Formats: sequence, C-alpha cells, structure tokens
Amino acid sequence: MSIRVRYAPSPTGFLHIGNARTALFNYLFAKRYDGTFIIRIEDTDLARNVEEGIESQLKYLKWLGIDWDESIDIDGGFGPYQQIERLEIYAHYASELEKQGLLYKAYCSKETIETLKAEGASREAIRQACQTAPSEDAPYALRFKVPHGVEYRFQDMVKGTIQFSSDEVEDWVAIKQNGIPTYNFACAIDDYLMQISHVLRGEDHITNTPKQLMVYDAFGWPYPTYAHMTLIVNGEGKKLSKRDGSILQFIEQYAELGYLPEALFNFIGLLGFSPAGEEEILSKEAFIEAFDATRLSTSPATFDPQKLTYINRRYIQTLNIEDLKALCLPHLKAHNIGTHESSEWIESLLAVFQERLEFGSQIVEHYHHFFDQPFVIEGEALEFMQSEDVRPVLEAFQRAVASLETFSPEHLKQAITDSGKEVEVKGKKLFMPLRIAVSAAMHGPELPKMMHLMGQALVLERLAQTLKLLN
Ligand code: GLU
Repeated sequence: MSIRVRYAPSPTGFLHIGNARTALFNYLFAKRYDGTFIIRIEDTDLARNVEEGIESQLKYLKWLGIDWDESIDIDGGFGPYQQIERLEIYAHYASELEKQGLLYKAYCSKETIETLKAEGASREAIRQACQTAPSEDAPYALRFKVPHGVEYRFQDMVKGTIQFSSDEVEDWVAIKQNGIPTYNFACAIDDYLMQISHVLRGEDHITNTPKQLMVYDAFGWPYPTYAHMTLIVNGEGKKLSKRDGSILQFIEQYAELGYLPEALFNFIGLLGFSPAGEEEILSKEAFIEAFDATRLSTSPATFDPQKLTYINRRYIQTLNIEDLKALCLPHLKAHNIGTHESSEWIESLLAVFQERLEFGSQIVEHYHHFFDQPFVIEGEALEFMQSEDVRPVLEAFQRAVASLETFSPEHLKQAITDSGKEVEVKGKKLFMPLRIAVSAAMHGPELPKMMHLMGQALVLERLAQTLKLLN
C-alpha cells in the first residue's frame, strides 16, 4: 500500500507552532516511507477564514523546509485541494446518504434541540421534532442519523485502542443550512477520495474521529490508520493557547526575529518525538532517517522556549560569515547600525558576538550593550588593576597601538604579544589588564576582535582614561 498523508490546515490565521508540528510529522512520515505528502485546505468555515491565511501557511511551511507533493499549486490528480472548490463532491455524497436515510433534513436550531433535551426528550423524539418543516421554504441542515448501539473502535498509532459508543454521539450536522459541509463530513469524504492512508493530527481531534468513521461505515469504506499526537503544553503543563502572550507561537514571529529555519525544524521535530540516540541537534535528513511513528510520545510535549533558543544558538555558531551576515544585516540596517562601516568592521562585529548570539536581531542589543554602556572600572576589576604589573603593560600597549598603521585584529594580536614580551608578562597578567582597561569588564569577546570593533581612537582613549585612574 502506498503511504499518503496530509496536513489539512484551516486558513484561520498564521502558521502556529502546533500546526507546524502536525505538518512536520506528516512530512517526515511521507519522506521516511517514500510516501506522498498532501496539503489540503479546509476552508469551509467561511466566517473564520482570514485573508492571506492560505498564502501565509504555505509560505512559512516552505520557509521551514517542509515541501509538499500535492496541493493547490501541485496537482497530483486528487484535486481540487481546497474544500470550498469541492462543494459538488460533498453534495453528491450527501445525497447518496440522504437516499439511504442516513442523513435527514433538520429544520430546528441548536437552541431548540437544547431545550428539547432539557425537557428530557428522547433522541428519537428530537429527531422527529427536527424533521418537521415550519414552513414550505424553511432552510434546513442535513444531519447525520447516528446509529444506535454501535461501537466505534480503532487502533491509534499513538494512543492504542480507542473506543466510542455511538450513544455518546448526537446526531450531527453534515451539511449546514448554507449548503456547505461541516469539517467532519468534508474531512472524511476527502480523506477517502484522496486515498489518505494515515491520518496524523492533534489529539484534540480524537472526539471527531467517531463521526468520521460513521461516514466511512455508511459507504463501506475501509478506515485509514489514525495517529493522534499529544498536546503541546507550556512550562506549567497547560495546553498552549494562541492567546497566551508569554510564548511566541507563530512561525512568522520567529522568522522575523532572526531564528534559523533549520533550528526551528529541529526544535519542532523534538516536540513529541524522541529519536533513539542522545543527540538533539538533528538535520532534516537525520530526522527523516530516524522517524518512527511508534516513537511518537504518549505524554504531552512541553514547549520550552529556552531549548529553542539554545538550539538556535547552536545553529548560529556553525554559520559561515556569509550566512551570518545574511541573518544579521537586515536587523543592523533597520537600526542604522554599521551603514557607513567597512565590511571588515561588520565581520568583526558579527565574529565578536557569533558565539553567544541567540537569534539574528539580537545583534542590535549586543551592539548597544557593547558601545553604549558607561565606562566605569569598579569592584573586582578595579581591585585587579591595583597590581604593580598593570601599569607597564598598559603603557607598552598604548605605545604599540598608537603606532599601528593598520588597525586589524591580526595587528592587534601582534601588538598584544609584543607588549607582553617587552614588559615580560604573559597569560592572564597580560590579557586581563588590557581587557579591563578597554572594556571595564573581566569577561567578554576575544580581545583583538573586540578592540578592532571599538576602533583605534576609542581604544587609545580608554587606555589613557584607565592610566589616569590608576595614578
Ligand atoms: N482543519 C482541521 C484543523 O485545522 C484539520 C484536522 C484534521 O487533520 O483532520 O484542525
């Protein structure tokens, strides 16, 4: 049997981390087993669709490196791939079921049903009441006549055996009064017609599954295999809510901040899936290789923003200077930083901070922190500077820097070494006074690169200032 899986977004907003995870696991599943990955747009809830919803979903899936084999832009012979263009198909299948007596015209509103239920009316009585037309041209929905006393049972790849009794499910709307199908009806029809072999989706859809199985049963179609992935929760174990402002949840937000798509792919791939080994930094190819639907986690996946930042930082550390520039330059430009500097200066800036950069736009913060903090030597640093050896080091280095014609990291490195030789100190006794004298800090980026970034004038100014302080 060929593997065909689908991601079925409703274009009700931007690409959310939870949806991205569903897409990603379907993608991995398809790639791992040489299957087909389909994106089907479920846009039948007209009121909830947003403009650009579809474009934005597809754009950020592509950005993440998740591409598809069939969708609205690639016809694989199972289209249309957008439900609003399939209304005739649903109408056809609905009329089949109506003929069989499995769908019936229902004129009553939700409220009427609630009232009848509250009055203790039986399922059959409610059904009867609903089928009475209040007037000749009254609109109606088509409701599914849920059979009595049937057990729906399926083997979920994540959850194991799941069972529902039909008596737990009320007659449900298959086609709304406006002629448009509900999610459950359209989804079942499409999963069958598109020959979907495995349905991987969030566990919030488990309770929808019996309704979809009813449609399969009504037509005598074989069920696909289901895999319902656990929820994504926050640090407190609560389901991630789109309204929770404390965690960024949309892929677009991460892209804008200068996160790398490979890092996000890696992070999302670990949300509810653990590869066999210990290693957590995995490429897309490694994920495809390692993917095993039976290793999908059965407990909720915790969204840990710090882990995401850690992973992103690891990826940034491996970037070559060109890619690092591509990531950071737009953010520097947007803040008018370095616009008149040489590309060598830009490269120094990036090299100095690459090691601890968590995401691209953070370079702006590092820049300001570096250049705008007040220069005050105090506390432990000041204490360190009281040693007798300090002054000769600073003076030797001051002379060396003043005479430098080329102010490059390499020349600075040489100047540091030369000054050390001249006054016969090395190691910490050489580097620490210089570091404190120009930055007031005892830790920081590599000295020559850092000084290059500061520029000759500022380095000399600070050396003079520090020497004055030591007088
Ligand atoms: N359109 C549904 C959603 O966005 C898809 C559910 C499914 O995968 O069946 O949640």
